[in-house]
Amino acid sequence: MKRQTFASALLAASLFTPVLTPQAHSQERAAKKPKLAIIIVLDQVRAEYLTRYAPFFGEGGFKYLMKRGATLTNANYTHTTTYTGPGHALIGSGSYGHTSGVVGNRFYNRESKRVESMFFDENAKILGYEAVPKDDDTSPRNFIGNNLSDQLLISNNLQSKSVAIANKDRAAIMLAGRLGKAYWYHEGVGGMTSSTFYTKELPTWIKQFNDRKIPDSYFGKSWNKLLPESAYSISHADDFPTETDFKSLGRTFPHVLADKSGKPTADFYEGFTATPWANDYQLELARTAIDAEKLGADEYTDILGVSLTATDIAGHAYGPDSHEVQDMLLRLDRSLEAFFKDINKRFKKDEVVIALTADHGASPLPEHMSSLGLDAGRIKRKNLSDAIETALTAKYGAPANGAKWVRVVEDPSVFLDDTIITEKKLNPAEVQRVAGEAMLTVKGIALYYTREQMLAGQIPNNRWALMMEKAFYPTRSGEVLFFTKPFYFNGTYGDKDTGSTHGTPYEYDTHVPMIIAGAGVKAGTYNRAVDVADFAPTLAELIGVDAPAGSEGRCLTEILK
Ligand SMILES: [Zn+2]
Repeated sequence: MKRQTFASALLAASLFTPVLTPQAHSQERAAKKPKLAIIIVLDQVRAEYLTRYAPFFGEGGFKYLMKRGATLTNANYTHTTTYTGPGHALIGSGSYGHTSGVVGNRFYNRESKRVESMFFDENAKILGYEAVPKDDDTSPRNFIGNNLSDQLLISNNLQSKSVAIANKDRAAIMLAGRLGKAYWYHEGVGGMTSSTFYTKELPTWIKQFNDRKIPDSYFGKSWNKLLPESAYSISHADDFPTETDFKSLGRTFPHVLADKSGKPTADFYEGFTATPWANDYQLELARTAIDAEKLGADEYTDILGVSLTATDIAGHAYGPDSHEVQDMLLRLDRSLEAFFKDINKRFKKDEVVIALTADHGASPLPEHMSSLGLDAGRIKRKNLSDAIETALTAKYGAPANGAKWVRVVEDPSVFLDDTIITEKKLNPAEVQRVAGEAMLTVKGIALYYTREQMLAGQIPNNRWALMMEKAFYPTRSGEVLFFTKPFYFNGTYGDKDTGSTHGTPYEYDTHVPMIIAGAGVKAGTYNRAVDVADFAPTLAELIGVDAPAGSEGRCLTEILK
């Protein structure tokens, strides 16, 4: 090939590329822009599910989207905090917690001196429900920067519209940002709600949707398997002993959704979220939102964010290798097929971008792994704090007045009581190291780095340390950051004896589906490793705006036409 200097390449480009006036540029962009970008986030869905369950999928759901779009088969999170809040924050903004401040679902707030939801905002009152605990009053207040929805709305003086709907407040909030509208489900309401951050009153279309009382129509209904029993032989036994009996749904099929009181209660409405009908509910609301808000109707691109959570609630209850999660995915595939058909009725194919991913994967039930001979287990938070208390007291003496060294263990951090360290005139870096070493004596703990190491830039340049750094934000992170060995977990589900979770830096929690289809996308299968941080900047390019402020990913130019 003939070598070309940079200068001659520039000259050639200027000679042969038609020079567009700024007006022509924007016209070309406007012509290419989709009318509507639909972001579908699946909660707790591994990339592997798309291949594992492929033999049981229809042609119109996942397979349709994969055929029409770019399938990124190696999309991973590169942070240690594979949880819903940090996941949705990254999907919406392209920024990890070290930039967005969303380093967990919950954290110890050193100002209010209590553990809070990352999305708690005392000034944002939830609508239609008296929030107890007050953590149900939520907004994007703690999210630092902006997201794709904000970026789009700023770009045209709020001519675009952005609506995000979800089962969970944090999911809807992180997709809507500050300028879009977020609506989420609440079991205390038995329907959709929002907070005063977004609106003083729910719009008529949401009120009318709630008036349909869709969850109530499932009272007493049975969730049965979609396919004959033989299809489920790739999952572990339906009655695996450490599955959870979530909200009296039982551990085995058929799961009857009801309530002892004989009528719908908050428990019933919460149980509803673990069934496939909860996904249908959100997708029906998505259709309603498109019509009511006239999304995609004018020349300004709109965004619709939809986060589907039933996969997560069922994953927690039954584990990722269960009949329930398998059936949930098969039914979700059919629900997506119906949804895509409705989208195609409303829009031409090149008028819409549909981008699908997940907020994290799923850790297997430890007892299932143990039964197969793998090293696996649950770690009780009390065992961690006991180990730290014993080690610190042995070295420095007991704290005065019966105080405790450990304030709280809230993933991925241990928060120590800094007033004791000050009173005893101790070196914080050394205290943190002693605490971290004590944690390593607890079976299943893999690694720790201290706050002082993070702040001083003293962490090694390796994969695990860098993943942890992305989940570190000084004012919201604790004194010791840690994670477990593969197939171990701690936290709420570590304390319990049943159910499963996510939140590790391992493949089963980090590897998620990513499919981007529609206007401007070159269909195909792309096996190159990509980061979920690339999702937002790629969508930004497709809708013709800059990536959000803190975006740290790359635009996936290989999938663009
Ligand atoms: Zn999640």
